[in-house]
Amino acid sequence: LAASGAVVLLICWVGVSGEGAWRDQLGWLVGACLGAGAVVLAAVLWLLVGLREVRRGFRDLRRDQRMMLGLSEALLERESAGAPRLDRWVSAPGMTRAHRPECLLMRGKTPEPVPAGDPRPRCGVCTDE
Ligand SMILES: [Zn+2]
Repeated sequence: LAASGAVVLLICWVGVSGEGAWRDQLGWLVGACLGAGAVVLAAVLWLLVGLREVRRGFRDLRRDQRMMLGLSEALLERESAGAPRLDRWVSAPGMTRAHRPECLLMRGKTPEPVPAGDPRPRCGVCTDE
């Protein structure tokens, strides 16, 4: 559209340059205005398409942000829920050591709370001491 508008502008420019009388130039001027309008229309359409792409990009970005924030919120929630976990220990039937509730060795087992004064040794996997 922009190229055809530019071609129309060029043709009208060449055509109007051969005319001496103002009345004869008027038709060429109208043609040149139409050509310029086509160029402007093409530029506006180009901008709209570009802005649509930008909006789509921002929408994807917001979705990703929400996903990541939701994930981190869930992590924060788990952390705060487990805040007293520093002195919270569990064990399971048949286990000789006390573990943190989220310990890998506790996976699939039914946790039983371990009292604070329990002499059981602490697990080496979930204890970083
Ligand atoms: Zn453990």
